[in-house]
Amino acid sequence: LSNRLDGFTESIIRKMTRIAKQHDAINLSQGFPDFDPPRELLDELRIAADEGPHQYEITWGSELFRKKLAEKQSKWMGIPVDPESNIVVTCGSTEAMMAAMMTVCNPGDKVIVFSPFYENYTADAILTGVTPIYVPLAPPEFLFDPEELRRAFEQGVKAIILCNPSNPTGKVFTRSELETIASLAVEFDAFVITDEVYEHIVFEPYTHTYMASLPGMFERTLSCSSLSKTYSITGWRLGYIIGPAGVIDVCRKVHDFLTVGAAAPLQRAAVKGLELGDDYYEGLTRSYEQKRTLFLEGLDRIGLKYYKPQGAYYVLVDISEFGEPDDYKFCEWLASEIGVAAVPGSSFFREDVRQYIRFHFAKKEETLIEALKRLEKLK
Ligand code: GLN
Repeated sequence: LSNRLDGFTESIIRKMTRIAKQHDAINLSQGFPDFDPPRELLDELRIAADEGPHQYEITWGSELFRKKLAEKQSKWMGIPVDPESNIVVTCGSTEAMMAAMMTVCNPGDKVIVFSPFYENYTADAILTGVTPIYVPLAPPEFLFDPEELRRAFEQGVKAIILCNPSNPTGKVFTRSELETIASLAVEFDAFVITDEVYEHIVFEPYTHTYMASLPGMFERTLSCSSLSKTYSITGWRLGYIIGPAGVIDVCRKVHDFLTVGAAAPLQRAAVKGLELGDDYYEGLTRSYEQKRTLFLEGLDRIGLKYYKPQGAYYVLVDISEFGEPDDYKFCEWLASEIGVAAVPGSSFFREDVRQYIRFHFAKKEETLIEALKRLEKLK
């Protein structure tokens, strides 16, 4: 087998989903909704089944999808996005991140990854032949030390990966933190590859700042995101990269040879999401705010300690009081004996941190209530 795959481990998130199924546990591990996408998308999907398209679209995304995406993102990001030159539509943000890394990095290059991190970034680095330099977001507040970040940049990095709002912590980077990162990226002439899939799930009083919108940053930022979380369509695998024309031109070639293109009928149906007005996004945030309140109040009742998420739909819960040093064992026990699946926190950390497990709360209220009822046995 390929040496490239040395050190390649299976996804712990997906593994926990299999363990959840095996024990019929409520799956609060792999983050995806158990409720339907907006009606408008489903109605259009039916029409697309009858009318098509059923053949390849333009490799970097259908004209209408890019037009509507450019309109929406120009507004939200506060910068002009040209559908003809600044966008490549991908098979989820997963492909977007991989294509972005392959576009800007040579094998042997270095990229900065904040730890804890979403597990795909290490896999992207391994598959691209890139060495990750990890910079801790130190618990319990998940702040980074600007001097440590500078020392990482000094090692000659090609790019920094920025997940904001952040998985698994739920941290939303402040404007000032982003400015620190941006000024280092400029000083050391590095790219920023963002993962902003939770851009519309940010809780008051926090707000999402797009890295690409900071002065001088559009030219060196590849903004990756997806429709998965915003429209509850994780299985449609629709994502995108927004960036400067010259770089996007190369991303389009990488994307073309990786996948040819995202699913044509799904692009057609998803346009109905991109056309939704501001009310939709306000409603989405409100609904996740309610889920967060419900779930966190439940954790409070049980007496569990956690980092209060500022965005995204995850919560890292501190399990140190249970005296089980192995968070994997704890999660297996939780799934089999308590009937709730979570992700062992150590799978997200580069450092040896085993005191957390990650739950997600992208579930119907009744699912969350049942999960909390089961978790009460932990009292
Ligand atoms: N992003 C989600 C999570 O972190 C789903 C991951 C996946 O399996 N694609 O749980």
